[in-house]
Amino acid sequence: MGELIKIENLRHTYPGYEGQEVIALTDINLTINQGEFVAVIGTNGSGKSTLAKHLNALILPTGGKCLVAGMDTSDPAKVWDIRQQVGMVFQNPDNQIVAAIVEEDVAFGPENLGVEPHEISRRVTEALALVNMEEYRHHAPHLLSGGQKQRVAIAGVLAMRPKCLVLDEPTAMLDPRGRKEVLDTVRRLNQEGITVVYITHFMEEAVAAHRVVVMEQGSIVMQGPPAEVFSQVARLKTMGLDVPAAAEIADYLRGYGLKLETGIISDEQLVVALCP
Ligand code: ADP
Ligand code: MG
Repeated sequence: MGELIKIENLRHTYPGYEGQEVIALTDINLTINQGEFVAVIGTNGSGKSTLAKHLNALILPTGGKCLVAGMDTSDPAKVWDIRQQVGMVFQNPDNQIVAAIVEEDVAFGPENLGVEPHEISRRVTEALALVNMEEYRHHAPHLLSGGQKQRVAIAGVLAMRPKCLVLDEPTAMLDPRGRKEVLDTVRRLNQEGITVVYITHFMEEAVAAHRVVVMEQGSIVMQGPPAEVFSQVARLKTMGLDVPAAAEIADYLRGYGLKLETGIISDEQLVVALCP
């Protein structure tokens, strides 16, 4: 699979108060392949949202570069192309809804791209089907649940036919049911081929990814398959991060001498390991 995103020595500083610069990212190197599902975790202020904003040129590098499908985000001529390829979904569903009817909301992106009306209608149908929201097409978004609103927001991005979906804590404001709806939707879209970058502080969600990237103070400090990253229980806890409950229990039991294999990150794996 080819590279979709290539970040080289990326640095980002924000102008702070009274000339005090804030260094949000330092020397980030990261390649994301087409079709990959990458979860990004890290404590508050570690630079996750800043990194996400670089992926569709919402902000520009103050050092190094960010390439999307070979296009440099710093090239003003490429910004619209990049934003079409990489769609963003944010934390607060209410801030992302722009229209009074679901279908109009989903149509907003392609309308701005100048897509023909009949093609827009086709895309709206397709996008709502992809997030399992067809039956709400003529509903008012503000009456939907949080999970449904986030799925409408995802449909709005899908209607632009992006290659990559970047979600910045999309479930942080949702109840457990809404979280499951959103994660299930994202997993299914990824299985259908869309590249996913998923920022979360729910470790049980990060387990769904192919690769977990851990950020601390503007740097990537660990990355690898979930089973590998979450087996480093002590290190993650020192960083102030949680680990999936199953990984923590397995680690605890190993401390009492139980011979459990490494890489236990799900409840199912833990049950199988304990009751073979
Ligand atoms: P995270 O998403 O992991 O919580 P952020 O990317 O939001 O981290 O923030 C990284 C650092 O950059 C933090 O120190 C934060 O205070 C700072 N920062 C974020 N946005 C701005 C901004 N617009 N202006 C100044 N500093 C900012
Ligand atoms: Mg953030």
